[in-house]
Amino acid sequence: LKKGDRILYLDDVTVSFDGFKALNSLSLSIEYEELRCIIGANGAGKSTMMDVITGKTRPDNGHVIFGKAANLLEMDEPTIAQIGIGRKFQKPTVFEGHTIFENLELAMKDDKRFYKTLFAKLNGEQKDKIEQTMELIGLKEHYHKKASILSHGQKQWLEIGMLLMQSPKLLLVDEPVAGMTPGEVEKTGQILTELSKNHSVVVVEHDMEFIRSIAKKVTVLHEGSVLAEGSMKDIQNNEKVRKVYLGE
Ligand code: ADP
Ligand code: MG
Repeated sequence: LKKGDRILYLDDVTVSFDGFKALNSLSLSIEYEELRCIIGANGAGKSTMMDVITGKTRPDNGHVIFGKAANLLEMDEPTIAQIGIGRKFQKPTVFEGHTIFENLELAMKDDKRFYKTLFAKLNGEQKDKIEQTMELIGLKEHYHKKASILSHGQKQWLEIGMLLMQSPKLLLVDEPVAGMTPGEVEKTGQILTELSKNHSVVVVEHDMEFIRSIAKKVTVLHEGSVLAEGSMKDIQNNEKVRKVYLGE
């Protein structure tokens, strides 16, 4: 894939819960190495969309295609993760009792034999990758500190780093700045922007100021389908969006 190609394509995706359509013929595509923001009121279908992409929820109908032709609806969750889709949930789940370096190491090896894995030797390439990631998430000087002493924001960044250890091509990030200080919010914007230079990044977020600070292209979900899409300016001037959100 190259810039401008689409890496993810949802076509006519519908998900019903007891007859209620959480996604209603949703069609959407994400480009290779773009940073996309998805916004929408509570209940708009944002999390359901993430669940469909990652294989957690099966739609009633529609298509979900990743890369050139991978049909995600034929794959289970682990397979979807393996072919390069990483998801960051809202709450950070780092290994509190382990150091930053060890957290990244464990995420890289992703082996359930915890301690055995921890002491298996890393090769130079793996070490470099961990170093570069610590640099990106601003935790390099803290590499030897336990995750338990990190701030909420730092834990979120560490978890983004842990996701990167699996070399995803597409990253789905759910409300990354909730509960962060203004300084942490800014740093998070920098991290995601940097990441989008060599990954496709989809961010779901409520914090409009944050969206404004990072957004290139924004998609507004409403009642399970796309209400509007474009630059932040396009969105703010969009009549349908104004009607729904401002009651105009
Ligand atoms: P968002 O993430 O945009 O807030 P969701 O995707 O979580 O929205 O939910 C969309 C709609 O689908 C909501 O009305 C929600 O109540 C409903 N919904 C989501 N998951 C389920 C479920 N497992 N069972 C029943 N209803 C659900
Ligand atoms: Mg949600």
